[in-house]
Amino acid sequence: MRETELPNSSLAVQNAHPQTYTILHVDDDAASLLLAESSLEDAGFTVVQAQNGQEALKQFVDQSPDLIIMDAMMPVMDGFDAIAEIRRSPGGEYLPILMITGLEDLESITRAYDEGATDFLTKPINYLTLPFRVRYMLRAKQTADALRLSESKLDSAQRIARLGHWECQDKAQEFFWSKEFSRVMGLPESVRTGSIDSFLSAVVNRDKQSVLTRLLRVFETCRAFNMEFCVGSDNEASERTVRLEVHPHFDVRGCCTHVFGTVQDITERTNAQQQIHNLAYYDLVTGLPNRAQLYERLEYALKRARRKNTEFALLFLDLDHFKQVNDTLGHDAGDELLQQVSSRLKVVVRDTDSVSRSPDDEEETKQQHTVARLGGDEFVVLLGELNRGGDAARVAERIAAVIGKPYTINDTKVSVTTTIGISVFPMDGGDSETLMKHADVAMYHAKEQGRNGYQFYSRKIHEAALARFSMEADLKAAIENNELTLMFQPKVDLLDHKVVGMEALARWTHKTNGPVNPAEFIKIAEETGLIVPLGRWVLEAACKQMQAWIEAGREPFSVAVNCSPVQFERGNIIDDIDHALATSGLDPRLLEVELTESLFLEDIEAGIELLRQMKVLGIHVSVDDFGTGFSSLSYLKRLPVDKLKIDQLFIKDLEIDPGDAAIVLSIITLAHNLGLSVIAEGVETEGQMGMLERYRCNEAQGYFISHPLSSEEATEWLSNRELQLLSKQVSGF
Ligand code: C2E
Ligand code: MG
Ligand code: MG
Repeated sequence: MRETELPNSSLAVQNAHPQTYTILHVDDDAASLLLAESSLEDAGFTVVQAQNGQEALKQFVDQSPDLIIMDAMMPVMDGFDAIAEIRRSPGGEYLPILMITGLEDLESITRAYDEGATDFLTKPINYLTLPFRVRYMLRAKQTADALRLSESKLDSAQRIARLGHWECQDKAQEFFWSKEFSRVMGLPESVRTGSIDSFLSAVVNRDKQSVLTRLLRVFETCRAFNMEFCVGSDNEASERTVRLEVHPHFDVRGCCTHVFGTVQDITERTNAQQQIHNLAYYDLVTGLPNRAQLYERLEYALKRARRKNTEFALLFLDLDHFKQVNDTLGHDAGDELLQQVSSRLKVVVRDTDSVSRSPDDEEETKQQHTVARLGGDEFVVLLGELNRGGDAARVAERIAAVIGKPYTINDTKVSVTTTIGISVFPMDGGDSETLMKHADVAMYHAKEQGRNGYQFYSRKIHEAALARFSMEADLKAAIENNELTLMFQPKVDLLDHKVVGMEALARWTHKTNGPVNPAEFIKIAEETGLIVPLGRWVLEAACKQMQAWIEAGREPFSVAVNCSPVQFERGNIIDDIDHALATSGLDPRLLEVELTESLFLEDIEAGIELLRQMKVLGIHVSVDDFGTGFSSLSYLKRLPVDKLKIDQLFIKDLEIDPGDAAIVLSIITLAHNLGLSVIAEGVETEGQMGMLERYRCNEAQGYFISHPLSSEEATEWLSNRELQLLSKQVSGF
């Protein structure tokens, strides 16, 4: 397309842009050629000539004329064949061609148009007006070119936007649409018009009726609307989502004359929206609804239950010992396990038809059930509607049974169990937060009762949980404010009854509740991690006291401190011991650490490594509560420990239970064979002392010798004990 614009006024025809346009004049009559040439050149056109159709084709290629004046009848090739050939050639499709025919030759005029002539002139030609005719034809061509360009730009823009347009003028009888409409709707591009059926032929079956109904209605209501639906085959992979805009058009009198609109392919946008929705509402690992979606469904369940006056339950699940699977098999295996668990949960919940209200209601009820993952190993099952709150127990039992079955992960058999807490609307809470919190509290309580079970929420549990939370806070404050104290319980040698050591035992007197049982507060400290600062304090206080006794002139003996496995997991016990020894100045050989077997159960190699580091520090190590663990005895020979402390459980009935006596004797023999020394704890009677002496147990500790004592009491007890032994020796002489 040329950029030069044609002048608007006919007066400007003469000499306007004279060099711009090339006219090819084809005629076998030399006189006609001459006359036309002079007239056209005077008007500023460049003229090239040919004397028959064949020459004209050559000139068309060589000169690229802007317009052709073509005589009809010529030798070699006539004007009709030449026009037909030019129209088929590149660049010839839209070229203006003025056909010259005989005055009366109507047949030629018709044929000329049939072959593609743009206009005709009859002989004799008025050469004076010829340039005007040429000029107007060129202008018409330019307008047509501009229109074509604009159409093609519109088509490109529509293609880029994936937006097609359409219209219908006669009450849904015939529709017209753009090329892009065909593309978006999946129709053949050549088809641009058709009935409402062909207009909607690509709409998927499930959407067809609703689109048809709404489209027909607009011809009656004359109200604009838009809607989204799918086109393509009814197969999700090849379907595309489109948005249809429909607008009525009104004439000046306000009558709806026709309906028009657009259709846009919004597949990518809806896919992206879907993805965003999935990220926001689904858990990535398991594909289950996440916390956000659970809360939405919970809100829906609440509204529904309030309206229908029904109950529903929340089951809060936690996998027992899931951390071990992650630690031993790796995170990928952990993820795989979570996926398998969620599949099983979905099956149980899907099959939970026993809790639905009635068979009619079943489908609806099932949709109310939700399995969600909160994160980690925590899942929540929302049982949408129940006959009775108690039905949740049956579901919980089935869940526990199904989850408890073994899993195969990377060819390894894995077992997990689950602990479940249940809260029921409306008894256990009237809003999402409360119901979730109470199900969590119930789950926590179920864990405390021993894992792999379920527990309903109750007020008692809640109060216990509250009391526990405040106990935790108080214990934290007591540790920070140095409110704990130490008691010391002596250990004696069974050969000469001399004091060989003191065990430091932590004590806590609660501000309002009085003394708290150590078993209770040590458990809380272990569960909350407070055992780390607590243990650090005990180590320091015990070492200091021992050093003070030595400095006061007492014959040195060892001080024993209990250490919990949690201090190894969460703290740095080696540093703590080192620090306690350094600050007190105590000889490391006088510090003994009492560890329980559980430390070695989980990871024996790590346990051995830790004991080695303790040996490097020069301290002694004993295994506390020996005999109550579940470990095999074979690991004992690998452990660099010094002493076994037989649990008081076996000492209690030592005199009356031959079984206990046999166990105690075996432990002592075994320990001696391994080169270890043995102490018995919980010795309460002279008889027990006697038996232990006979069994060649090395040391004893218990109420028979002394209860745990405060440091002042212990100082006094030690002095008295020395005097007693002295007087025994004296009387022995
Ligand atoms: P344990 O280390 O086995 O301590 C022995 C427990 O038995 C002590 O209870 C002691 O008072 C009690 N006992 C001593 N002789 C007798 C007896 O003849 N008969 C009976 N029936 N009991 C006797 P306590 O002080 O209540 O401590 C309980 C447990 O709490 C300890 O068991 C220990 O595991 C833990 N514990 C105490 N203090 C600490 C500490 O500072 N750190 C850590 N990690 N644990 C501690
Ligand atoms: Mg102990
Ligand atoms: Mg013990």
